[in-house]
Amino acid sequence: MRFTGKSVIVTGGASGIGLACVEAFAAEGASVTIADIDAARGEAAAVRLGAEGRSVRFVACDVARASDASALVRSALDWTGRLDVLVNNAGILEPGDILGLEEAAFDRVLAVNLKGAFLVGQAAARVMVEQGGGAIVNMGSVNGVLAIPNQLAYVVSKGGLHQLTRAMALALADKGVRVNAIGPGSIATDLLRQVMTDEAARRRILARTPMGRLGEPAEVARLALFLASEEASYITGQIVYIDGGRLPLNYTVPVPD
Ligand code: NDP
Repeated sequence: MRFTGKSVIVTGGASGIGLACVEAFAAEGASVTIADIDAARGEAAAVRLGAEGRSVRFVACDVARASDASALVRSALDWTGRLDVLVNNAGILEPGDILGLEEAAFDRVLAVNLKGAFLVGQAAARVMVEQGGGAIVNMGSVNGVLAIPNQLAYVVSKGGLHQLTRAMALALADKGVRVNAIGPGSIATDLLRQVMTDEAARRRILARTPMGRLGEPAEVARLALFLASEEASYITGQIVYIDGGRLPLNYTVPVPD
């Protein structure tokens, strides 16, 4: 129960990795605010976890809107009187390479994945500094350093998010607020599970995954817990990769049938 009495916000907390983070923080005693654009799924998750005895509630929020970002942080304060942890996890994809990507699609991805983390991160950091401490965990990606040509906007947004992490961490280092990022590889969310049913896609992904399997959302959540906890008290400005060995790998590994 490392987070008893702590107040946590998880953006994009209605599904996938975000939901796993919500479950993990709540299981360790935190009061968790799910902030998501998907009200139906967010409400349902809050009701389900509430019935299991967890302290979880849902707030509708589009992280790309400054007014939503500040209202979100205010509402967490109204609820618990404090804000200890922010997990900036909301993220979207829009396919397209440099020759074909529409300007609007580029703007959408950057607005959610990068500007959203800035907006919620700024609102949260101001409260945490005032309060005397806190921790922010940004959900980056191996695609912050590796590039996929047909996911131009996404890889740019994640590269930017890694730099946002470093610049925030430095500005807040002497103010009791730590900022780190997680760089997941291929994690078994609903979307990726579906992708894995296609044999060619499965081979492509596993050929670049030395551990030979996808990561689980709960494994990413455990890293978020660690980075947000007192156990990580001297860690700030880092991007921690959780990718089954993908980043150090040059070339490919054999894929079993
Ligand atoms: P999901 O799509 O399962 O979850 C993302 C959640 O964010 C969804 O509920 C989504 O709602 C919500 N969301 C989208 N836009 C907004 C917005 N503007 N404001 C608030 N919430 C929003 O994604 P994953 O769990 O797979 O990914 C979570 C994070 O992890 C992302 O940042 C992603 O880039 C990162 N990541 C994921 C990897 C993976 O393999 N899954 C690998 C590396 C990084 P809706 O469904 O309605 O869009």
